Amino acid sequence: MTKAARVLRARCAPAGRPSYAGRVSTAAAPGPNPDRPSTPEPAGQPRTARDAGREALAAWLAAQPDDLFADDADLAALIAHHGLSERSGALHAAGRAAAGSVDAAARENDRIGNHPVLDAWDGIGRHTAGVAHHPSYRAAGRGIYGTGVMAAYAEAGVDGRATGTTPRRPVRAAPHRFVLSLFYLTAQAGEAGHNCPLACDAGAIRTLQHLGTAAQQAAHLPGLLDPDFDTNLTASQFLTEVQGGSDVGANAVRATPIGDHDGGPGSPWAVSGEKWFCSNADADVFLVTARVAHPGTGTKGLGLFLVPRTRPDGSVNGFAIRRLKDKLGTRSMASGEIDFTDARASALGPVRDGFRNVMELVITTSRLFNAAGCAAHARRAWVVASTYAQHRTAFGQPIGGFPLVAETLAWIRADAVASLAGTLQLAGLQEQVDDGSISDTDAAFFRVAVNLNKLQTALLAHDAVNRGIEVLGGNGAIESFSVLPRLLRDTVVYENWEGSHNVLRAQVLRDCARLGVHRGFFDGLAARLGPEHAEALEADRRAFDEVLAAPAQVRDLRFRRLGTRMAIWVMLAAMAAVPELAAAARMTQRHLREPEIDEEYLSCIAALQRR
Ligand SMILES: Cc1cc2nc3c(=O)[nH]c(=O)nc-3n(C[C@H](O)[C@H](O)[C@H](O)COP(=O)(O)OP(=O)(O)OC[C@H]3O[C@@H](n4cnc5c(N)ncnc54)[C@H](O)[C@@H]3O)c2cc1C
Repeated sequence: MTKAARVLRARCAPAGRPSYAGRVSTAAAPGPNPDRPSTPEPAGQPRTARDAGREALAAWLAAQPDDLFADDADLAALIAHHGLSERSGALHAAGRAAAGSVDAAARENDRIGNHPVLDAWDGIGRHTAGVAHHPSYRAAGRGIYGTGVMAAYAEAGVDGRATGTTPRRPVRAAPHRFVLSLFYLTAQAGEAGHNCPLACDAGAIRTLQHLGTAAQQAAHLPGLLDPDFDTNLTASQFLTEVQGGSDVGANAVRATPIGDHDGGPGSPWAVSGEKWFCSNADADVFLVTARVAHPGTGTKGLGLFLVPRTRPDGSVNGFAIRRLKDKLGTRSMASGEIDFTDARASALGPVRDGFRNVMELVITTSRLFNAAGCAAHARRAWVVASTYAQHRTAFGQPIGGFPLVAETLAWIRADAVASLAGTLQLAGLQEQVDDGSISDTDAAFFRVAVNLNKLQTALLAHDAVNRGIEVLGGNGAIESFSVLPRLLRDTVVYENWEGSHNVLRAQVLRDCARLGVHRGFFDGLAARLGPEHAEALEADRRAFDEVLAAPAQVRDLRFRRLGTRMAIWVMLAAMAAVPELAAAARMTQRHLREPEIDEEYLSCIAALQRR
């Protein structure tokens, strides 16, 4: 079955589960939740407290921005700083889609009864390994891919001389900062069924551009770069197995050579075994890690393979989806458990470099997308909560006037800005990594900072959405009232995939001990932060040297604390050169030291309120 046919196949709710599909609207949403009409008041009755309360809520709904880019002065400042202002038209279009059709579709898509279901056999008993989606999934996909978020990768110029025997450098880097700015806007609708797939698509596109043979590129790149969700291809990436996700070296899925070859790029293999977490399970092409050497050889024995969904005759390519996961968050995207049996695969790059390539090109990309998604969740929490605080009254005044609410709102906004600034800074460095122009110091800074940034943005997003719910009070806990409960569930997943917190900490410590990249990391920070923070930064540099030299148990526990500080430094470094973000930067420093509650702090809170 073609992708369009699979997606177009609107389904009924599975037997035994309630279907709400008949009573929900697919219309664009004007605010956080337009589904529930207010009760009409009897004519001629005096205006009651209830009337006033409901009018205030209606005013809050009406106050939701209809263009999330136009509403975001912080993003605008960063866009100007990164020299992307000429792309404002595309960002406004994405901001309008995110606030309108994508948001409405994402809300509908996540209703109980509307989640994806396994639809593995066609009507006459042929195996399709299909997943059926509610039509709102396609509506969201059209809006998101239509922003050009994946199509922008076509701007990367790839060295035409490459034969696929070695990783090649693009002659022009992909516009990662622009891509992640678009993604940050649409991701404010939550997972929407597409955020995880976008990260996977991006990893696949980058890997194909850097490593793919001409045949692999011709087969997959045009479809992955197509902005039309009805005709494009999507990708997924399967590393995790039931025995462990963090410990990728424990992978047992195996790849067997087909014919006699040296395992070079594009060589044919057959993949067999079980992958335990397979998101975007109905993708058109899978990137799969599999063991090419004997068990026990760890990550060194892993190759990276391209597994198309179908064989040339249209049949399913040697895999079956055992079941879909019943998830806490990101529920509108299908995550399955998949059994592979002699699936036809081709090596993506040389098999001996599989693990290195998957980390550099796939996982690093995913970690940047994960961080941009977290910044988006935090920002949306601020949009919803800051408008609410203007319209909700308690004890005779708007709640935003209470110092504690205002401070909470300032924290949320500052954490969203810090996460976005840090991520765009790293996306800029990724562009330099790609085209080979990065300095040694910045390469070291990038290597450490990508992992710390992924960790910290996920922690901040969870906290920001939780605090946004707090501002909404009891209403914040109600799924039908606002987007925030869904975002909170999504942030839990963001914390755990693409590297759990501890695994990221362990990777940073390992990289620093083995490669000494902490020296470039701290040098990069010092150059960006300037004299204002020199003393505190030097103290942390010394503390890190001590941590590295400490016995393992002490080292790990100390680094949990120090790693947080290092991640915050990365974010502050990104904000240092953008004067419009001064108040947010000042507020972000509360993660480094307890702030003085003085006039300056109060003016900082005031500067971060919604106008
Ligand atoms: C919704 C969802 C979708 C997913 N989709 C995919 C997908 O499409 N493809 C894919 O490959 N994976 C996917 N994953 C899997 C995800 O990447 C893993 O869950 C993650 O890598 C962690 O692996 P694990 O669950 O096996 O946890 P484990 O590795 O078992 O870790 C359990 C705990 O132990 C800690 N721990 C592990 N090692 C160390 C250490 N050295 N030091 C200190 N603590 C440690 C971890 O931090 C964690 O807290 C998905 C996960 C979720 C939740």
